[in-house]
Amino acid sequence: MTTIAATANLHAPFEVASSEKPTVGVLAVQGNFEAHARAFQKAGARAVLVRKAAELDGLDGLAMPGGESTTMLRFLERDGFIEVLREFLSVTPCFATCAGCILLAREVLSPAQASLGLLDIAVERNAYGRQIDSTILTQRTELPGGPLEMVFIRAPRITRTGTGVEVLARRDGSPTLVRQGHLVAATFHPEMTADLRVQGFFLDLVRAHRSAKKRPSRKDATRAGRGIPLHSKLESTRALARIARRLVAAD
Ligand code: GLN
Repeated sequence: MTTIAATANLHAPFEVASSEKPTVGVLAVQGNFEAHARAFQKAGARAVLVRKAAELDGLDGLAMPGGESTTMLRFLERDGFIEVLREFLSVTPCFATCAGCILLAREVLSPAQASLGLLDIAVERNAYGRQIDSTILTQRTELPGGPLEMVFIRAPRITRTGTGVEVLARRDGSPTLVRQGHLVAATFHPEMTADLRVQGFFLDLVRAHRSAKKRPSRKDATRAGRGIPLHSKLESTRALARIARRLVAAD
């Protein structure tokens, strides 16, 4: 039987946030992006397709679909897209499935491959066999609502999880659904079944993240306007006053 690791903070997760629909981008470089976009629309988000770095602007979260991670990587490595994406996802929620999970992982094996390196896991590509070994399993997860149908297609196996990574489901002992803060990854394809619980889980996280961002911290409150620290504003005010005095004196 599959064993599920205890997840301490999963069931007290997110604050109620704004009712406005979150906007989730779906990386549309290659793979199963249309099914992701449809599933997120059904789950209550606005979904938009993302093909270039500039399209990340204003998104509340990003989904990276399954497909072929090597092909996606080749595309991302053009025009510095991967560097922008890494920076964006270091602070913005991401939901990554299968090839997307490979892109997000810190370490990729069999064969080794570059990645965004943000999620503290190691993955072994195609670890469950070839295309013909793709399978559908119904498994326990830590999400409410009972067992979940999971479609595995040439799935990677998560072989290591860092200390900050919660395991929400397993297959034969290996994690299949994980979360590290604002990053969620699955080695299966939730967009291929009618069950929207994984998308719903991610959207709760996106909403909580968005409302936390809107609430200014005390540090931010001491800053005035457009991100300029208060002390530098004061300095420029003093500089203006000095110039004004000089002008008056010169009159
Ligand atoms: N095997 C693919 C890869 O290594 C992933 C398969 C998938 O996304 N379903 O990129």
